[in-house]
Amino acid sequence: MHGPVEPFKIKVVEPVKIPSEKRRKDAIREAGFNTFLLLSVDVFIDLLTDSGTSAMSDNQWAGMMIGDEAYAGSKNFYTLEKSVQDVLGYKYMVPTHQGRGAEHLMSKNLIKPGQLVPRNMYFTTSKLHVELPGGTMPDVIIDEAHDPENTHPFKGNIDLKKLEKLIDEHGVEKIAYINVEMDVNMAGGQPVSMQNLREVYEFAKEHKLKVIFDATRSSENAYFIREREKGYEDTPIINILREMMSYSDGCIYSSKKDCLVNIGGFLATHDKEIFEKTRSEVVVYEGLHTYGGMAGRDMEAVARGLREGTQYEYLKYRTNQTRYLGELLIKENIPVVKPIGGHAVFLNALKFLPHLPREQWPAQTLSAAIYEESGVRSMERGAVSKGRDKITGENIFPKLELVRLTIPRRVYTNTHMEYTAESIIKLYEKKDTIPGLKMVHEPKYLRFFQSRFEQVSL
Ligand SMILES: *Cc1c(COP(=O)(O)O)cnc(C)c1O
Repeated sequence: MHGPVEPFKIKVVEPVKIPSEKRRKDAIREAGFNTFLLLSVDVFIDLLTDSGTSAMSDNQWAGMMIGDEAYAGSKNFYTLEKSVQDVLGYKYMVPTHQGRGAEHLMSKNLIKPGQLVPRNMYFTTSKLHVELPGGTMPDVIIDEAHDPENTHPFKGNIDLKKLEKLIDEHGVEKIAYINVEMDVNMAGGQPVSMQNLREVYEFAKEHKLKVIFDATRSSENAYFIREREKGYEDTPIINILREMMSYSDGCIYSSKKDCLVNIGGFLATHDKEIFEKTRSEVVVYEGLHTYGGMAGRDMEAVARGLREGTQYEYLKYRTNQTRYLGELLIKENIPVVKPIGGHAVFLNALKFLPHLPREQWPAQTLSAAIYEESGVRSMERGAVSKGRDKITGENIFPKLELVRLTIPRRVYTNTHMEYTAESIIKLYEKKDTIPGLKMVHEPKYLRFFQSRFEQVSL
């Protein structure tokens, strides 16, 4: 049987080559066993991230040619603004160079020192941008999300009882806002249901709290709502998206994922006050409010990609390709997070390498071993990514210790998926021979990007 059929044909190709066994062995050591530090030329199939790695369409490339590079009032800004209004339904939009630029502006304006920002699981840059202005990010995702085997269809949902408990314990004035991520990345690309979004919003309004979305993967989330939630089977994705966003006061958005572009981001809101504040600050940190760190041509590509990325046939192929890789692995009993998420297949490193203690970074180890075996680059999403406790300084060992095989959009064929699956299956057969790692260099912020490791003896 064949994999999901691509709803496009290929017009431009970039050659890739598998490095020799000797080169792979050297390269991962030169990179301190951190796949972020590998050179791209040493990588065969790059599943590090789906961020900024999409293949743009001919329509998007055509749009690049009409980039209006005026410092102020670029026409592409207005095209992007219109696209955000049409697809997401927000009235106001502030452009930023990428998602974390928007996170910075939102957090800086809405969080006071000592406040809490409850969220359905953390994301690395989001957590840091809450902590920098003095906030903390308690996790209020449903318990099912922490269990890789649990097949709940909406593992991204917020547990309202956990929210209620936080308010009882700390008082409502301690909550800066409720933060809801779409298609929760760290949980395995797991969606939030429309019903949950509606309930969270109602809860927030009862308590006079704002709801801010991390809407980065909202189109893929919308696809899952259509696939899994009663009443949405025939609803156009764009209508689902607009209803989702109606249950929020605003959002931050990294265009580098669902918008099928290589760079860009924005903040969008229904709230005039948030808009005025962030628009006045964007000029300090990002650029003028009509470009926010993006070139005119980039804004055009985002504007077109935001619409393109909501096409049902595309989203169906996209999520099915991810599922295809996942199912090839499940067939051979490789431990993965279930159900298979939207943008990635997540390997459960604790089950893959049960002989390693948490202190030897099983997910980091597995990610490095996959590269050495196959030239496939993946990413650690476990204790290295989670970092240290803000107060005690101790390492935190989250329940999920995962390796993410992230599928870039429209970039790799199903044969690439098959090669990846076969390599991982081969590695699984000799998993007991893989030694663990010790961390020998640890940067202060977002350590997973630049930390270095050495092998310890088995
Ligand atoms: C990528 C990402 C961000 C940060 O966006 P950048 O464009 O990388 O700065 C924020 N939240 C989520 C969920 C993301 O996946």
